[in-house]
This record gives sequence, structure tokens and C-alpha cells, in this order.
Amino acid sequence: MELISSNLKKHTGNLEDLFNNLEIGVVMIDQHGIVHNWNRFMEEYSGISFAQIQGKDLFKSCPELPETWLRQKIKAAFMYKNRSFINWEQRPHLFPFIKSQPLTGLGNKMYQNITLQPTLNANGDFELLSILVYDVSQIAHSKLKLEQVSQTDGLTHLYNREFMMQSLEKQLAHFHRNKTHASLLIIDVDHFKSINDTYGHLFGDRVLHNLGKMIKESLRKTDIAARLGGEEFAILLPDANRSSANYFARRFHKHLEKLVFCNKNQEFNITVSIGIAQLDGSINNINDWIELADKALYQAKANGRNRTEWA
Ligand code: GH3
Ligand code: MG
Ligand code: MG
Repeated sequence: MELISSNLKKHTGNLEDLFNNLEIGVVMIDQHGIVHNWNRFMEEYSGISFAQIQGKDLFKSCPELPETWLRQKIKAAFMYKNRSFINWEQRPHLFPFIKSQPLTGLGNKMYQNITLQPTLNANGDFELLSILVYDVSQIAHSKLKLEQVSQTDGLTHLYNREFMMQSLEKQLAHFHRNKTHASLLIIDVDHFKSINDTYGHLFGDRVLHNLGKMIKESLRKTDIAARLGGEEFAILLPDANRSSANYFARRFHKHLEKLVFCNKNQEFNITVSIGIAQLDGSINNINDWIELADKALYQAKANGRNRTEWA
């Protein structure tokens, strides 16, 4: 208990200053999770002073911490007496700290890397564990932004083709393990070429942008929508059986009737054709799946457009 904190006090001034002015959080706890040290970084971000938390159970003072999980890590660190790390990608916000300057698009929670460092006392015994909290919000922000950009279609802000392919792969693997339903819709704008020809390519882009917005608004949280290219879109409805996918498509055609475009006082609507393929045991790879949905889409076009067909 005296250990590091008393050592620091011996070297009054300098070490304590250093400890408190570190740009990382330092918490020292014993095997039971009782707090022995808590530097200024921790005070500032948690709003809990050292005086308030000293000698208290860390998990009682910070009830947001994932207790069972973290206690396990702490136990292992004491047992094996070696350093361990928790990366932000594994658990982004161990301590629920808020940054005063929000990161655009990623909210204002602090992303953290954590080191668990067994700490020796004067007798060379491991009695304390230092939890070091590194603020890696900037790094996380850059990485997540890059990831987001590489998955996104620039015009519609839906996902791009590559991301959809990865999602289909995942869904197919999931299906082979759990036999869960999933439906793939391929949506193609009808006579889009004539929209470009009549109103110009730029206006055509606006139509695609607005259609993307409408698609986004029609999704549930787990649905995934992408622009495959040109005026072609794909929607993956996980867990959707035939009747719920049908319901989705019908509602989509209906909503589209209400989406009115206006160019030089001329109002018009667009229609789409949709092909749907549901996952089943005959589908061995995603190309099979896409091909089935494509064939159904071709049927919808052949049968007069502005309609949905099934594989
Ligand atoms: P269908 O009903 O058979 O689908 O007819 P369509 O005219 O929609 O199909 P077609 O494949 O003949 O034409 C697609 C058009 O989409 C041609 C192409 O110039 C246009 N297009 C592709 N990508 C873009 C884009 O990013 N922006 C715009 N404005 N037009 C695009
Ligand atoms: Mg088309
Ligand atoms: Mg097309």
C-alpha cells in the first residue's frame, strides 16, 4: 500500500509532478481492485479525485467498467507477472472518458489503449498493478475514417461494391453454419439512360444521390445497402425470408412513387426493377447468389420493369 505512492512522496516534488503531469492515465490497484494511486489525468477525465477514490474498490467507483472481463485480465496479470495490452480495436473505450474536442463523425468518447503493468515494491514483490491509459483518439479517428472512406460509395454514401461482396461472404458463411435466412435484392433504375439524356449527367447524379438517401431510409439497422456501380444497387436483408423480402420490395416501389424529382419546372418520377434471391443450400459461393438475383432482375426488366421478380 505504501509502495509506489510512498516512494513518490519520498522524492517529493519532481516525481509526483511527473506522475501527475503525464499525458497518460495511471491507476494503481492491488489484487482486490483497491485503488492506491490515481494521477491527475484520471482525475480530470473521470471527475473523481484521488482523495475520493483512494482505498476504494475501483469497480464500485467506476461502475461502467466491464468488471468480470477486467477482473479476469487483472487476475491473469498478477498470476503471470507480465505486461498485457488491451488495444482500442478490441475495446475502444475501457474508461468512459469524454474528450472536450469531439472528433468529427466519431463522437466525443476517448479511444484508449491500455497496458496492465505489474509493479514491484521495494522488496521486489508484485503487490500492485498499474493500469496505464493511453489516449489514442487521433490514431483511431484516422484509421476509422480511412476505413469508412474505403468502404463507401462517394456519390450516394452507401457502401461500395467491395464492402457488399465482403458482407455477402460473411452472410453465406453464417448461413452454412446456422441456416439463417437472408435475401439479396439487386435494384436497377429503369431507363436511366434517358434521364441522363433528357436532363444531363449531373442531374442524373443527383437522382442517384437521392435514391441512395431513400434506400438508406428504408433500411433496418442490420440491413446493408451498397451501390454496385452505375445505377445499380444491392441490398442485403439478413434474416429476411421470402415474405419479408417481398414486403420490403413492395414498400420500396411504393415509396419511390412518392419521390418526385424536379428539373426546370418539370416533375417526374423514377421506377426501378428488382431481382431477389434468397440464400439456399444450392448456393455455394457469392457469385452463384448474385447471378440468381441478376437473372431475376433481368426477368423483371423483361416483364415490363417497375416490378420485382424472384430467382
Ligand atoms: P434499363 O431500364 O434497361 O436498366 O435501362 P437503362 O437506361 O437504365 O440502362 P442502361 O444500362 O442502358 O443505361 C445505364 C445508364 O446509366 C448509362 C450510363 O451512362 C448511366 N450511368 C452509369 N453510371 C452513372 C453515374 O455515375 N452517373 C450518371 N449520371 N449516369 C450514370
Ligand atoms: Mg437501368
Ligand atoms: Mg444497369
